[in-house]
Amino acid sequence: MRSVMAYDPQNIFAKILRGEIPCTKVFENEWVLAFHDIAPQAPVHVLVIPKGAYVSQDDFTAKATDAEIAGLWRAVGQIARDLEVAEPGYRTVQNTGTNGGQEVPHFHVHICGGRRLGRMIPE
Ligand code: AMP
Repeated sequence: MRSVMAYDPQNIFAKILRGEIPCTKVFENEWVLAFHDIAPQAPVHVLVIPKGAYVSQDDFTAKATDAEIAGLWRAVGQIARDLEVAEPGYRTVQNTGTNGGQEVPHFHVHICGGRRLGRMIPE
């Protein structure tokens, strides 16, 4: 049986969720917190994180309830509309694990927009 890395409650997004360090909040409901990325890669770069303790997209899709999954993705769509990037479009990115380039081990969805983003997966 495969194993997912244990959740580290000291990761930076867990601290943001607990209010121990600040963020620039753009949205919050019972399922998610969303805030501006500290090092934006696009004119709009927001991170959407579930309130539950999930390491990654892999962990989230394996263990989260249907309500949590729906709550997260409904929020992502709502936030993109609120930020006025749904038209002319935006990109969501979920980096997963070492090969995916994930730096913070609390699942998060990047919403990037505000300009044409070019091809996916540069390098
Ligand atoms: P990833 O590589 O997918 O794990 O993305 C982690 C993202 O978190 C990066 O885009 C960072 O710029 C962002 N980040 C790290 N620390 C903070 C913070 N304190 N507040 C907001 N964004 C952060």
